[in-house]
Amino acid sequence: MKPWSDKLRKVVPYTPGEQPVNTEIIKLNTNENPYPPAPGVKKALNSLDDRRLRLYPDTTAKPLVDALAAYYHLGQDQIFTGVGSDDVLAIAFMTFFNSDKPIFFPDITYSFYPVWTDLFRIPYETKALDDNFKIIKEDYYENNGGVIFPNPNAPTSYYEEISLVEDIICHNRNVIVIIDEAYIDYSGESALKLIDKYDNLLVVQTFSKSRSMAGMRIGYAMGNKELIKAMNDVKFSYNSYTMNLPSIESGIEAVNDEAYFKHNIDKILKTRTSTVAQLSQLGFEFPEPGGNFVFATHPEHRAKELFVALREKNIYVRYFDMPRIDDYLRITIGTDKEMKILMDAIKEICSNPT
Ligand code: PMP
Repeated sequence: MKPWSDKLRKVVPYTPGEQPVNTEIIKLNTNENPYPPAPGVKKALNSLDDRRLRLYPDTTAKPLVDALAAYYHLGQDQIFTGVGSDDVLAIAFMTFFNSDKPIFFPDITYSFYPVWTDLFRIPYETKALDDNFKIIKEDYYENNGGVIFPNPNAPTSYYEEISLVEDIICHNRNVIVIIDEAYIDYSGESALKLIDKYDNLLVVQTFSKSRSMAGMRIGYAMGNKELIKAMNDVKFSYNSYTMNLPSIESGIEAVNDEAYFKHNIDKILKTRTSTVAQLSQLGFEFPEPGGNFVFATHPEHRAKELFVALREKNIYVRYFDMPRIDDYLRITIGTDKEMKILMDAIKEICSNPT
């Protein structure tokens, strides 16, 4: 013990998926996109004048906000950008969850939420998903300090219909409801269409998945202008220059290339369809996937053992040693070739159990 030990802030941090240095690995553990970003992204980075790096970037990432506003047909004052949606979500927690009442989120969900609540000292209560990993909407009718859930959910990949999302927003008009749509582009309708109807709704999305830009760290929130102003006020209270210039410039190119974006999504969806068929054939069970990943369990083969055996073959998937989900694997959709290698490895492991 050092004399200052009791002054240190003690937190249990979020555990991100592993980022191996070895590039030979089949990496299906962090829901990244296996395809490169839109070609304009590379051009923007190659042509960036290094003299511009002398200067601080625009504090509100205005050029990127303008591009997103044009794409989503919103006002510039309805969009907030940050360093990945983790940054945007953290600022949203600080900005909107300031009640003595607990905020609500599902028991099985993005494991960063309880980390932020502890860090920011926000009371919270989890609401159990049903046996099929679906939200029980009535649980969110109780008095609370705010609501957040991902749609599609992570790590289950299950997409809740927009009518359920709207119902939860409707029953919580006196608090802010955040819908974390990191994976929405692989799924059904976004809650974005509801932001003009409900001034208590914030929708958060990311460039990390469907726009293949996890490495650039770009996330954004969309909502009514009072919510966005409140987020900017909080952001400017701790770090005004969050987004770097290369992210802003290359992000614009990704937004403007809609054809590439759609094509990229189509490829992942096709591979998801064939992955689902193959996993079913091998006896796996899973909620219908709405994201670029499948959350699978097997009646005969233990997930933890499969996880270890796949890792030995240089195939990384994600395993969570947590209640209710400790017999599931979260498998990111990669290229067709990567999925074939995965399936062959699973077949081999299952036919030679240790
Ligand atoms: N929300 C959910 C549900 C996620 O799974 C992730 C990815 N880990 C994020 C937000 C954060 O993604 P990013 O910070 O890369 O935008």
